[in-house]
Amino acid sequence: MSQSLAGRVAIVTGGSRGIGEGITRRLAEAGATVAITYSASVERAELLAKSINDAGGRAIATRIDAADRAAVRAGIDEIVRTLGRLDILVNNAGVIGAGPIGEITDATYDHTVGVNLDGVFFTTREALRHLGEGGRIINIGSINADRIHFVGGSLYALTKAGVAGFTRGLAREISSRGITVNTIQPGPVDTEMNPADGPYAGITRPHIAVDRYGTADEIGSLVVYLAGPDAAYVTGAAINVDGGYAA
Ligand code: NAP
Repeated sequence: MSQSLAGRVAIVTGGSRGIGEGITRRLAEAGATVAITYSASVERAELLAKSINDAGGRAIATRIDAADRAAVRAGIDEIVRTLGRLDILVNNAGVIGAGPIGEITDATYDHTVGVNLDGVFFTTREALRHLGEGGRIINIGSINADRIHFVGGSLYALTKAGVAGFTRGLAREISSRGITVNTIQPGPVDTEMNPADGPYAGITRPHIAVDRYGTADEIGSLVVYLAGPDAAYVTGAAINVDGGYAA
């Protein structure tokens, strides 16, 4: 395995499980030191960090609720103090918040926007105080920013379309600092949020051209590319990894 990210330090928000775990493992295999954040899954985050450290890599786990601005600021500062630098931010933490608009409570709206949009915006703002030349920001959006084949996804689509727009706007602002920012838009990926045999499978599966769910590892491999030096000319993009869901 190429150590293309040796010496680099990455933060993966929501790295405790699901797509974030796949991204974390791939970044560590490529030689990066990874700080995983989580809001609730302390044991899984600690176990993942331990398995990476036991395998000769380096990872730490830190509780940072992505929707809590003060915690985001303090937590990122603490990670940079501990690891000495920051090169890569992966905004992966997310929640689904699905339902017909009339059934979306204020609390569901606030939580979904708080994690999926505020979390991306404020984590990025705080990370940019530490990122320098060659820095990389990779947002995990969703193909549902562009295509949505089920009823009840308006709030989720609102947040993920916001991530894609934020990415484009920010790309123009930070390119002068040698920092890129991109969004990966996964299609259905087999995780606890969207199990391949879960409630959404029946309605989404017929729209997947390759006729299967994706894996967290298939998202992680693109993260490694975008985080590396070969991707210096890729910025402001929304890249679909969706098995042809939007085709
Ligand atoms: P998942 O299995 O539910 O995992 C979500 C991750 O986010 C967990 O690590 C969770 O950690 C963390 N998280 C949730 N709320 C958080 C908060 N307030 N602060 C910090 N971390 C928080 O979901 P997933 O499928 O891996 O999704 C990961 C990302 O991919 C999300 O942004 C999602 O919208 C996006 N996505 C997923 C799919 C799919 O089909 N699975 C498709 C397109 C896009 P805790 O357990 O500690 O809360």
